[in-house]
Amino acid sequence: MNIHEYQAKEILKDYGVAVPDGIAAFSVDEAVKAAEKLKENGATLFVLKAQIHAGGRGKGRTVKSGAKGVMLCKTVEEVKEGAEKLLGDTLVTIQTGEEGKVVQRLYVTDGVDIQSEFYLGITLDRGTGQNVIMVSTEGGVEIEKVAEETPDKIVKEWIEPGQTLYPSQARRLAFALGLTGDAFKKAVKFIQALYKAFEATDASIFEINPLVLTPDNDVIALDAKINFDDNALFRHPELSELRDLTEENPLEVEAGKFNLNYIKLDGNVGCMVNGAGLAMATMDIIKLAGGEPANFLDVGGTANVETVKNGFRIILDDPNVKVILINIFGGIVRCDRVAGGVIEAVKDPEIAEKVKGVPIIVRLQGTNAEEAKEIIDNSDLNVISAVLLKEAAEEVTKAIAS
Ligand code: ADP
Ligand code: MG
Repeated sequence: MNIHEYQAKEILKDYGVAVPDGIAAFSVDEAVKAAEKLKENGATLFVLKAQIHAGGRGKGRTVKSGAKGVMLCKTVEEVKEGAEKLLGDTLVTIQTGEEGKVVQRLYVTDGVDIQSEFYLGITLDRGTGQNVIMVSTEGGVEIEKVAEETPDKIVKEWIEPGQTLYPSQARRLAFALGLTGDAFKKAVKFIQALYKAFEATDASIFEINPLVLTPDNDVIALDAKINFDDNALFRHPELSELRDLTEENPLEVEAGKFNLNYIKLDGNVGCMVNGAGLAMATMDIIKLAGGEPANFLDVGGTANVETVKNGFRIILDDPNVKVILINIFGGIVRCDRVAGGVIEAVKDPEIAEKVKGVPIIVRLQGTNAEEAKEIIDNSDLNVISAVLLKEAAEEVTKAIAS
């Protein structure tokens, strides 16, 4: 689960990580009030930041007003003008795709005098099975680019599961940033507090880009991207509340309500499969057949009428879908039951309307597969049965071509 920058900074602050003062705003009025409040507290420069679940805002522009996603404002009046431009407009950045994201929230924050910009990231290194902290002197740029062009400019420290970050590791990282004296000490403290926050919140990504050094030798997070491990969210009800559903794909949100594991993709072949491994294999088969998967959908262990119906509804809500491939392995669930479920689902008036002209190819293997094939073949619906994956793939190829 992703959260907004302002939410991330509130969390970091609670763990003693240095962040600039800032206030979230949902309207122009609130943005003005926020700037006035920061001014009372001594701010002489403001930065107005669009809050969307995507980075690259500084270089991004809004569609209508052409405003930048991160604006430096010298006065409260400038904050007001900026907020008027940003709110409701669509911000397009390198990370949003062409369609961009509508700006619904803003963050008004203290303008910080920057001496140097660094990069700091924490994530799980799946290769070693350990958390890794990465720093680089190349801040403010995309770390993927640094990793590709000058990988030696990224310095890493790994943390054993169950162990904490050793002070020596935090010192090595601060040293790698070329810091000395007071700045060095503050960076060590920053890294330690940040790692504590990462562990305590069961996060999967922390990205501070840029981490900055000020002329007063302060080390501060100017940007903060946090991603939580969804599987651990049940332990953090207060973090779950930070979820902003308007930032997520509506079909994925809908699927989540039915406990379906759905990821929207760009292709034209909808697929419904039980088990994540089989779902991946099915997507490969679709590609081999010359198609492009429209989604990943794992309906889980129980492929009953309800799950199949919900699966259809979600797949068919995507206008790109030209054909649907159902690939179910009947282990615990019997194939004839699944076949009956598919037939019943397709007869549902709402689904029947949407499925017109969309051939459905069903491949059922496992317990009672023969009976299942008979049920499908004897139905007078636009449902084609296949026993082998190869046959299913050929049917997909045919359906795409027609
Ligand atoms: P994004 O990564 O989405 O572009 P950032 O928060 O990293 O957004 O902001 C982009 C750039 O704007 C930063 O690299 C920094 O140079 C500048 N910036 C961001 N916040 C502040 C701030 N509070 N004070 C001064 N400059 C800032
Ligand atoms: Mg950034």
